[in-house]
Amino acid sequence: MTGAERQAALDAIAAEIAVCKGCRLHEGRTNAVPGEGTAATEVVFVGEGPGFHEDRLARPFVGQAGALLEELLKSIDWRRDEVFITNVVKCRPPENRDPEPDEIAACARYLTRQLEVLDPALVVTLGRYSMARFNPGARIGQVHGTFRPADAESGAPGAMTFAMYHPAAALHQGSLKAALFTDMKGVPDALTAARTARSGGVWEPREAVPEPVAPVSTAESGPDAVAEPQTDQAPQSDPTSQLSLF
Ligand code: URA
Ligand code: SF4
Repeated sequence: MTGAERQAALDAIAAEIAVCKGCRLHEGRTNAVPGEGTAATEVVFVGEGPGFHEDRLARPFVGQAGALLEELLKSIDWRRDEVFITNVVKCRPPENRDPEPDEIAACARYLTRQLEVLDPALVVTLGRYSMARFNPGARIGQVHGTFRPADAESGAPGAMTFAMYHPAAALHQGSLKAALFTDMKGVPDALTAARTARSGGVWEPREAVPEPVAPVSTAESGPDAVAEPQTDQAPQSDPTSQLSLF
């Protein structure tokens, strides 16, 4: 698939999600939150479900947990617009309660399809619900900071998954914050290992998306970095960058 085809396929999935009534979570939503990022990415971050701010803005990880996720990405010189960020359920559970098994099951088809389109090398799971989808039976206290092959049923059969605590958990339990930063340091190496596992070490950058798409969800101030020409000094053009996508 070309970059443009990937983006078109993601947009089509997002349009379906926006009007989905597949489970009771549609009742309380202001907006569904399909996810956002670049279709050219090799890395998908999967959280649990939208919270208050996400529901208002129709964008994932824009509240306090999102600020922490951005800090975590920055700590390895990555930016949110270089990856794809989404959730296990696309509509906000009332009062931010945990998603119920039937809601997760109803919404699974969308994440599966997004993963089939993106075909990521690495899926970073944020929290228990996300981890359970890719590595059923794993225990987060034991596996956080490590990677393993994704469950074949997950939609990303060729991917590795890297388990992390949920950033929101660290907002309530300060001791997890240090673990998050330590674990995040392992993500670039996990990506390298995932690429190697997929291709026997021969890695070719993906075709970038030709146009900065203006999806529903990127209306905010962030840089339209999807296909913007980079200056010579830009970190993305550094061949040593772990995420040299472009
Ligand atoms: N927490 C999540 O799991 N997802 C979001 O999008 C925001 C907060
Ligand atoms: Fe549909 Fe998923 Fe929203 Fe439920 S959470 S209404 S399945 S998009």
